[in-house]
Amino acid sequence: KTGRIVIIGGVAAGMSAASRAKRFDPGAEVVVFERGEYISYGACGLPYVIGGDVTADSAEGDDFERLVARTPEQMRGRGIGVRTNHEVTGLDAKAGTVTVLNRAAGRTSTEPFDRLLIATGVSAVRPDWAQTQSAQTPLGGVHVLRDIPDGQAIEASLQGANGKPPKRACIVGGGYIGLEMAEALHARGLSVILLEKGLEVAGRMLDKQLQRRVRAELEAKGIEVRCGTAVEGLTGTGHVTGVQTSGGLVRADLVIVAVGVKPNTALAKAAGARLGKTGAVAVNLRQETSAAGIYAAGDNTESLHRVTRRKVHIPLGLTANRMGRVAGVNMAGGDATFPGIVGTAIFKVFDLGVARTGLTQAEAEALGLKAVSVDVDSTDHAGYYNDSRPIHVRLTAEVGSGRLLGTQLVSPRHISVKRVDVVAALLHRRSTVQHLFDTDLAYAPPFSGVWDVLLVAADKLN
Ligand code: FAD
Repeated sequence: KTGRIVIIGGVAAGMSAASRAKRFDPGAEVVVFERGEYISYGACGLPYVIGGDVTADSAEGDDFERLVARTPEQMRGRGIGVRTNHEVTGLDAKAGTVTVLNRAAGRTSTEPFDRLLIATGVSAVRPDWAQTQSAQTPLGGVHVLRDIPDGQAIEASLQGANGKPPKRACIVGGGYIGLEMAEALHARGLSVILLEKGLEVAGRMLDKQLQRRVRAELEAKGIEVRCGTAVEGLTGTGHVTGVQTSGGLVRADLVIVAVGVKPNTALAKAAGARLGKTGAVAVNLRQETSAAGIYAAGDNTESLHRVTRRKVHIPLGLTANRMGRVAGVNMAGGDATFPGIVGTAIFKVFDLGVARTGLTQAEAEALGLKAVSVDVDSTDHAGYYNDSRPIHVRLTAEVGSGRLLGTQLVSPRHISVKRVDVVAALLHRRSTVQHLFDTDLAYAPPFSGVWDVLLVAADKLN
């Protein structure tokens, strides 16, 4: 008998687990505690709501609520006990209980569990300089972006909640969320400056050649990009007026802090569950932590990288959903395993689609692998086809064995970089460059050249 399954966190990992557990064992009692108001939504869509690409169905609707896949009522209809505005504040693994604060009522209760899932996600890093005025009176116009309330707060700032609508936005951090927000705020008519401490934007995702293309695209669209610039503080009383940097003062009346995330591990620690070297919760392939009966899934959890066979912390949406499913089945008495990841990611920056999977040359070298990369500049469709657009592919393999290590792609046609999936699939099977070259890829002039650019790159690398 499964008993009582308790899930902490009601978004991608938590709700996937709840649905799966209930489907696997309809007799199980499944309860989800979510400290926020919303469950089951796509945080990935937040920059697009702010930028205006996602809008409500009706004039009265809330644009942000378009991201909600399922409401608590819908989940309750499926027999899942969803309690929003309920924060788990304590955990007693021995007793098999969690302490839950009902935030609306201000009441605390103790809830028993037979199996527990910790799916608490990550928090945005707020460096010391972003610890604005004081916790009670934060400096207006300074935001992070993790969840719907963060998005709504940015929207309120854009509407002029602090007096007048902002004109100059400063994005701190050139990772994918910083880049997506630069584009979104530009679309809202603000002048945007992006500050990055490292040498280039997208520094942790791409090799230098491709980082430069991302920066060129931002600059071509009018975003001012300053790399090698560290932020030291904020100026303003009541409302932000500027950002103090190693390169001087940058005027800004809206600041987005996008400098990274840290896994929410307090409850896992309280359970006595081991954390990995990455700082995220360590689990086995069944999503079990080192504490008996306690599982972890999603952004707070490490995963196995199938190319390096190492544990990594790469918090992304599909990974969270997939881990949640695996945990859900296992908590309900089944036997599922998480297959691991290969480091696939995709995003867009204005008119540039960007994708990567596996390892970059720099990542491979940092791991001590002997790697070689080729670059191919070609077209995404048959060269003679009127609508063909440029595409750049960088393909990386291990010297000697010919094992594929990864690829990076950029193209002004966003969808063209979805080719990354071909290489991702092959990386899951530890394939070689020859395997890629031998693959029967689809061809017709409006889709690719007869030798797709991936095959051209494989041929060049072989
Ligand atoms: P979360 O979605 O963070 O959910 C965790 C939940 O746990 C939260 O709702 C939190 O309130 C709750 N919680 C935490 N502690 C407690 C507690 N003590 N008690 C009760 N509840 C608690 N991924 C992609 O793959 N592609 C993208 O394009 C992409 N874009 C993104 C853009 C943005 C702006 C952001 C913020 C994320 C993006 N992601 C993207 C990442 C993706 O959203 C996450 O990987 C996914 O949401 C992780 O799901 P999760 O369930 O693990 O964690």
